[in-house]
Amino acid sequence: MQPYTYTRAASLDDAVRAAALPGAMILAGGTTMVDLMRQDVMAPATLIDLGDIDEMRLFDTSGPVLRFGALARMADVAEDPVLLRDYPALAQSLQLAASAQIRNVATVGGNLLQRTRCTYFRDGVSACNKRASGTGCAAIDGANRNLAVLGTSDQCVATYPGDWGAALAAFDTAVHVRSVKGKRTIPFAEFHRSYADRPEVETTLRAGEIITGITVQATPMGRHSTYQKVRYRESYAYALASAAVALEMDGDIIRSARVALGGVASKPWRSPEAEAALVGQPATEAAGLRAGEAAFAAAKPLSDNAFKIELGRRTVAQAVVVAGRRT
Ligand code: SF4
Repeated sequence: MQPYTYTRAASLDDAVRAAALPGAMILAGGTTMVDLMRQDVMAPATLIDLGDIDEMRLFDTSGPVLRFGALARMADVAEDPVLLRDYPALAQSLQLAASAQIRNVATVGGNLLQRTRCTYFRDGVSACNKRASGTGCAAIDGANRNLAVLGTSDQCVATYPGDWGAALAAFDTAVHVRSVKGKRTIPFAEFHRSYADRPEVETTLRAGEIITGITVQATPMGRHSTYQKVRYRESYAYALASAAVALEMDGDIIRSARVALGGVASKPWRSPEAEAALVGQPATEAAGLRAGEAAFAAAKPLSDNAFKIELGRRTVAQAVVVAGRRT
């Protein structure tokens, strides 16, 4: 681990001022940051701990806009009764993420900034454009079973690993940020970047910006929603494929749909193709499989991960059936 300066912000104002320093990085739950600092993948000059800013832990799901402070703990949000009843996809995405111990310290804001699990990114020595720009990508001809089939490029094929982000992509979500230059709201679809040009730049956050909160527009579609996740082991693993589906039903027929994918793409992956395929259909496995096919029509498999296309397609179908049953 590289030497660094540790500072504990007493307030958001303090944190924002400190974040403007060159080389400053933010510590929220620390479940990603500390690992990557130990591996020398991330090396902040100054680490700003937000742990004392209690107001950033608040969340409120009672109004027409769901509001989550960036430091709200994943475990607390996952057990929120309103979320469990009205937005099961959001609650499930948190319940199925990581282990209970990690959910007790990880935050919903920090979770959006999870780094990829690509082995070559984390080993500190392999060619990796994400860790060291311009060095190449060892995964393209290497161990790529867990990597992405959507949103990749010849620069990087890493998978965005988050569950919460995949579920948020199915709703009208925004990320709120602050820096010494003021406040800004980023539509969720614009928050994460694909890897077309610069894989090392994963979000549209600007230098010195801190995530202060996340909002989701309330919608009755939330009640007809689910997050389905397929992984190597049920206890604790990243998604091989996941799908968040929210439906607006007209009797037994889907009037409109939201579909987002996890574990298969470079970012939380909303699929308008799958959504269009579901409109006017019943929420059946057959309709879900057709939607899944549309979702993966542009997929680019690598040597070892073509199975994710069929797995992802079936995961979409399962999510459609489960969401359709939630009346
Ligand atoms: Fe690095 Fe991306 Fe290639 Fe993995 S897939 S080695 S993260 S450039």
